[in-house]
Amino acid sequence: MPAPLMHIQSSPSLPSEADVVVIGGGVVGVFAAYYLARRGVKVALVEKGLVAAEQSSRNWGWCRQQNRDARELPMATKSLALWDALAAEIGADVGFHRCGLLYLSQDEGEIETWARWRDFARTVGVTTHVLGADEASERGRATGRQWKGGVFSPSDGTADPSIAVPRVAAAIMKFGGSVHQNCAARGLELSAGRVSGVVTETGSIRTKTVVMAGGAWASSFCHQLGIRFPQASVRSSILAVSPGAEGLPDALHTAQVSMTRRSNGGYTLAISGRARVDPTPQQIRFGREFIPMFARRWRSLAPGGWQGWRLGHETLKKWALDDVTPMERTRILDPKPDSRQIRLTYERAGKLMPDLARCKISDAWAGYIDSTPDGVPAIGEVKSVPGFILAAGFSGHGFGIGPGAGHLIADLVTGEEPIVDPRPYAPERLNRSAWGKVADF
Ligand SMILES: Cc1cc2nc3c(=O)[nH]c(=O)nc-3n(C[C@H](O)[C@H](O)[C@H](O)COP(=O)(O)OP(=O)(O)OC[C@H]3O[C@@H](n4cnc5c(N)ncnc54)[C@H](O)[C@@H]3O)c2cc1C
Repeated sequence: MPAPLMHIQSSPSLPSEADVVVIGGGVVGVFAAYYLARRGVKVALVEKGLVAAEQSSRNWGWCRQQNRDARELPMATKSLALWDALAAEIGADVGFHRCGLLYLSQDEGEIETWARWRDFARTVGVTTHVLGADEASERGRATGRQWKGGVFSPSDGTADPSIAVPRVAAAIMKFGGSVHQNCAARGLELSAGRVSGVVTETGSIRTKTVVMAGGAWASSFCHQLGIRFPQASVRSSILAVSPGAEGLPDALHTAQVSMTRRSNGGYTLAISGRARVDPTPQQIRFGREFIPMFARRWRSLAPGGWQGWRLGHETLKKWALDDVTPMERTRILDPKPDSRQIRLTYERAGKLMPDLARCKISDAWAGYIDSTPDGVPAIGEVKSVPGFILAAGFSGHGFGIGPGAGHLIADLVTGEEPIVDPRPYAPERLNRSAWGKVADF
């Protein structure tokens, strides 16, 4: 049950060499390749399935600074400016607008936390409005309820996950790069310990620089190279309703349900943070490192089933480069949504906004959200394999910060002034304990 997604044509043929090969056609890989292509770098992007068919089309589309961890906030702010410029740069709409994000609550503790974040955000020039009861109830009038308080972040926004990443991928080709779908990267070729090529299922590409932006598949790929990348994913379920409800906020979070207006006038509905933990070999391997993260979020997590084990993205097996790999067996990671949660989400949305109860469910899907132990992505060269840049573990925030992350990767590759300080993202930090450092969000 994939999420709605625009499909694009691939480039005609795989090049035999490139300055940079980007592995993974999600938001991170696509923006990295886009900013590289714009700088005249010869870049080839390989995607085992279809561009954006995994997390990058399955998300809510929120591009937010609100409640971001201090380590990630600068990238969120820069990304919003990049989203602003994008439509004019590529000559195509990506559904981005700064509609503002509205949070409503009946919980005084939660409202106090938001107020503390507002005070911190002010110190770095980010404006957000904490709402008293009257203002919150007025902004949330479509619910017909009195709220104790809330927060509104006017400079945040949403983009449309069904079109945004495919349209940027099309622009990579416009600026001279190439995009190859149904083309899994099976592994790397190394010469004297550093990257010298990428082996794909349809041929090899000589290159000195590889960006691994494989989302939930990144750690199993790194494992083939002897790189230890602690990563785990949880399964989140979500649904869309058809157009018909009017006068609702464009993007609203409440503890019961969250909603986002889609470009077609329908809404995406979900319960924030709620997810299933499907056991996998990798989860077992890195389980201890994720205890602080899971302890912090245990109220929202529930045990799942075996589908994650079967899908193979978190395998610990080593594979051969001349044989079919798990990435070709599972072209698109398309887990089954949790049907109980889908029903509950729809019921809660109908109670919160009676107009939504009249709109039919048009789609329901799930996605594996990949995370690092501290909830901050890993972006940077892996020191043990020169030329190999890891960019994964976006921990549920990658869609909004995808432009900034892609820009940073292009900066690291071309040696330009980095758009943000890259140090908080350095992959080697994950060799140390994450106790006490789990991101606030
Ligand atoms: C339900 C849900 C709601 C979310 N809501 C939000 C939100 O509102 N805002 C936000 O900012 N973020 C949100 N996220 C998180 C966000 O979607 C992700 O952080 C982001 O999309 C990750 O992008 P990515 O490029 O790292 O990975 P992905 O989008 O998963 O892309 C990785 C790609 O790499 C490909 N690949 C992997 N291995 C290989 C290989 N060896 N060869 C070739 N291709 C390979 C895969 O096929 C895949 O297409 C949400 C996620 C989910 C699931």
